[in-house]
Amino acid sequence: MTKNLFLGIVLMVPMTAWPANAADNLKPRLIVQITADQLRGDLLDRYRAALPNGFGRIEAQGYWIHEGIVDHALTLSFPGHATLATGMNPAHHGLTGNEWWVEKDGKWGEIDVSQDKRYKVIDAPKRQGVSAVNLLAPTLGEWTKSVNPRAKSVALGTGNPIPVAYAGHHANAAYWYDASINEFTTSTYYATKLAPWVAAFNKGALASFQKRVWTLTVPDEQLSLAAPDDDPNERFGRNNTFPHAYAAEARPASGGTLPTEFSVWWDGTPLKDEALLALAAKAVDAEKLGQGDVVDYLAIDLGSTDDVGHDFGPFSLEQFDTLKRLDRALGEFLDHLDAAVGKGRYVLALSADHGVIDPTDPGVNGRILRPAELEALLDRIEQVATEDSLTEETLKEKIVAVLKNSDFVADAYTEERLAQPSSDPFIRLYANVMRRGLTTNFPLWTKRERPHHPARYNIIVRFKENMVIDAAAAVHGSPYAQDRLVPIIFAGAGIHHGEEAAGARTVDVAPTLAAAAGIPTPKGLDGHPVPAALLTR
Ligand SMILES: [Zn+2]
Ligand SMILES: [Zn+2]
Repeated sequence: MTKNLFLGIVLMVPMTAWPANAADNLKPRLIVQITADQLRGDLLDRYRAALPNGFGRIEAQGYWIHEGIVDHALTLSFPGHATLATGMNPAHHGLTGNEWWVEKDGKWGEIDVSQDKRYKVIDAPKRQGVSAVNLLAPTLGEWTKSVNPRAKSVALGTGNPIPVAYAGHHANAAYWYDASINEFTTSTYYATKLAPWVAAFNKGALASFQKRVWTLTVPDEQLSLAAPDDDPNERFGRNNTFPHAYAAEARPASGGTLPTEFSVWWDGTPLKDEALLALAAKAVDAEKLGQGDVVDYLAIDLGSTDDVGHDFGPFSLEQFDTLKRLDRALGEFLDHLDAAVGKGRYVLALSADHGVIDPTDPGVNGRILRPAELEALLDRIEQVATEDSLTEETLKEKIVAVLKNSDFVADAYTEERLAQPSSDPFIRLYANVMRRGLTTNFPLWTKRERPHHPARYNIIVRFKENMVIDAAAAVHGSPYAQDRLVPIIFAGAGIHHGEEAAGARTVDVAPTLAAAAGIPTPKGLDGHPVPAALLTR
């Protein structure tokens, strides 16, 4: 941190500042953990002057680490969110992918890491039930409840069902938006019926967020900050300009995919996070979060940045507009916290589960891999695996050799190799996300049944830098910088004002929030409080 930067911050503090020096400032009653999915480290810098409300207030008053580090490979959502929530690396919190490659009923295939047949998603009979049983570590919400059983923990989100990563095993509420039923809902793991404030929101306020068309709210003078609206890579060239309206975009003649439900279309817009922040304000009121004599916890998972980023790319006008909308909605939510909880009576963190790589970025010298290339590589592995009389050890060596022979693969790791000390920085990043027997098939995604997929043998593959799968306009999941650098900002009670370029990791977010709120942390965490962010208590 330079002195000039620090002075700049002090001068920028607006009228609505948190009390700078009051004794109250050291006694938060509410921890608010906000995560914007796929918010890359450089996006808040790029749009700093254009986001003056919620983001601007958090930046100007908080402690801003511009390039926070995701300290593990496989930069996918569940591993990233659970790391933010638990202060542990995926190898220790257990959610080492979004899906795992496992044997079920004699066949090898994917299961979601949150899947749990013993439970149901309320109002959604076609959805599989979810729980946190595969999460091995308690979350910050659980630490908070363990200090005082009267403390409340609430996790809300629009990534389905990401709030599980924050709610963990014990929470007062965990709700996410499910497009298949157009409702915020939960699993019977957490509740037998929807809380009255959620049921009322689904029946009432939600509709007002769904009448809206996704119009451009970026003013003319800021348009040049983002890429041109009609970039052909956005949404593979279809329906890629403003305004975005269901009526037009669902029509097959305009490249739409009728009978896409309205709710599925809406799920890909920033309108859902505007609704989410309104629901979060309802949660604060109904559950009286931060309004008693104990410390409560509220997690907010903003999912639209991930959906819009995948569809349009990180520098698209659509992602800029999404951030503009989030900025206003966040500002209103902070105003609500000030009124309901009190200025200086809450501490918050804003971060992201991972960044993203845009393969069309002029600075990126990569290639988009077609599914057929991945299938051809997996075919070769199936062939090797059916050769006679191989021991498992020999087979694993052969699979690694086939993988490393591919022109887009940089390396392939067995669990044994990841357990050895090494000066190769990638070894540590992959070791941080290895859980024996529960290995993801990412990035070697396949539509076919593959009994000898490398994931079965706990082999994880690293693609060469900027070799990305053909899933969207922009994707994440790699161990490279653009996927691993995210903003980390702490603000509010117990937090020092300042900034630094880099240093802290996402694994440090939960321990820092706990330290600011005076919540004891479990022993053996991978993360540590960030001392520079904390006011001396
Ligand atoms: Zn994500
Ligand atoms: Zn994503």
